[in-house]
Amino acid sequence: MNGSEKGLFNYREKCYTKEMSNCLFCKIIAGEIPSKKLYEDDEMLAFYDINPMAPVHFLVIPKKHIENLFVLDESDAALVGRLFIKARELAKERGCEEKGGRFVINAKTDGGQTVDHLHIHFLGGRALGWPPG
Ligand code: AMP
Ligand code: ZN
Repeated sequence: MNGSEKGLFNYREKCYTKEMSNCLFCKIIAGEIPSKKLYEDDEMLAFYDINPMAPVHFLVIPKKHIENLFVLDESDAALVGRLFIKARELAKERGCEEKGGRFVINAKTDGGQTVDHLHIHFLGGRALGWPPG
């Protein structure tokens, strides 16, 4: 079976699904859209949110295109754990350990998810209200 039969096509020598080619965060991962990076390795990327809702607001995303938490596979459990550990480390580095902050995953329409690529928000540097709106 070749790439096109699997719904894949070759783009800049990498394999992208059509879904990924329309995904803002996949474009950030591919370097097609700029971002203010905090951290990157083989499996994840962290960058500042373009529209910060707190003095410290960044996102940690897997490089694998996973649409949302509802479609997360069991085999991705360890990856998601590492995303949270990295988010915690980056929050600590930015002085947010003592007072804390919020690690958030919005999912689907009612969750207010606007980018369909799994991401952890970290918000810190101010007291946050609860319940969310
Ligand atoms: P959510 O609403 O949970 O899906 O979060 C998506 C987040 O991505 C929002 O907080 C946006 O401000 C943020 N965002 C959208 N476009 C960009 C971008 N180009 N660079 C960084 N953050 C972005
Ligand atoms: Zn994506």
